[in-house]
Amino acid sequence: MLCEVCKKKIRTQLNIFNIFQTEKHHICERCFQKYPLLSGYQTIPIDHGMMNHYYLISKNRDVSPISYMSFLKIYYIHYLKHHKHQIILYFDILSDQLYEILDSLRLGDIYLVTLYDNIKKKEKNYEIRSTR
Ligand SMILES: [Zn+2]
Repeated sequence: MLCEVCKKKIRTQLNIFNIFQTEKHHICERCFQKYPLLSGYQTIPIDHGMMNHYYLISKNRDVSPISYMSFLKIYYIHYLKHHKHQIILYFDILSDQLYEILDSLRLGDIYLVTLYDNIKKKEKNYEIRSTR
């Protein structure tokens, strides 16, 4: 499999535990160290509900969203275990325009996963950042 960032072949060291596993990541170790995940969480009040917003990277970088595709599984599992009553949505970028659309649709509580967060911070938002 090729890395989506540098387009080189992803090489993993084989050992007895991973010899039969298929490669599931679309980003190599070198590019992952260059563009690490800085995931975070914030709640945004919207019309008729709350938006639980989880993002993988805080700033918009010119990295293909496919390269971080394998890291979305934990959000889907978290959604199925704890927020199954909400609507789940995934977008690459949360922009101000998309926020206003989701706010006006009155969908209720939304579990939103995005790659980038590109909205201006509102007054009542609560943000939790991981420290990795
Ligand atoms: Zn790479």
